[in-house]
Amino acid sequence: MRIGAHVDSADPLAEAAARGAEAVQFFLTDPQKYNSPKPRADADRIRASDIEVYVHAPYIINVASPNNRIRIPSRKLLMAHARAAAELGAKGLIVHGGHVGSGADLEAGFANWRKAFEYAESDGGLPLPVLIENTAGGDNACARRFDALARLWDAVGSFGAGFCLDTCHAFAGGEDLVGIVDRVKAITGRIDLIHANDSKGGFDSGQDRHDNLGNGKIDTELVVAAIRASGAPAIVETPGGIDGQAADIALLRERAGN
Ligand SMILES: [Zn+2]
Repeated sequence: MRIGAHVDSADPLAEAAARGAEAVQFFLTDPQKYNSPKPRADADRIRASDIEVYVHAPYIINVASPNNRIRIPSRKLLMAHARAAAELGAKGLIVHGGHVGSGADLEAGFANWRKAFEYAESDGGLPLPVLIENTAGGDNACARRFDALARLWDAVGSFGAGFCLDTCHAFAGGEDLVGIVDRVKAITGRIDLIHANDSKGGFDSGQDRHDNLGNGKIDTELVVAAIRASGAPAIVETPGGIDGQAADIALLRERAGN
């Protein structure tokens, strides 16, 4: 079972080694900006590495948005990041489920998600799996509550969409972590990656504030149980730099590893 961390993008392999990580996740660009990724000098080294690589798409992407000045660039940026991630041999591109905003029809968000996958197919096809991640909040979110997730999957499941389960987001988003893997799999049929995070925010607080395992409001046993039940690789997106993340990785390897 691979356990890794979200790290700085400058030298992800060195960051992985410093943490004892068997997998890494990083951004290719500033997550708050609509920037297309540039070719990386270390692409060959990353592709040849034993470390499993995941790329996180910018937060600013919201392919569900009813606003076409957000939705259209989001679609294109998602595709650009998918291509750049595939160049690195990444296993998946993680993107947040997005939201339509208060007062808008959530159904339009699901339809927009479908259009994003249709756009990708018309633009040569996705070169790697896109893993949609559940969110802690967002006005009228597509993938916060699992009743919405089920409707999202009705729209995108047939395109081969993957799923990334974030334990902090699920807890803060108001989904019980007990038995969560079975509930997700009943909807999506798959969990490709676990984001193993504790939560500073309380249950159903809507707050996206990650914490080190055991430091926040989540019973660490439930994070461990989710990893074990899913059989998926786990990435910690926790604070504390090398020391904080290395401790989280060691804890998970001891308790969730085989
Ligand atoms: Zn996450």
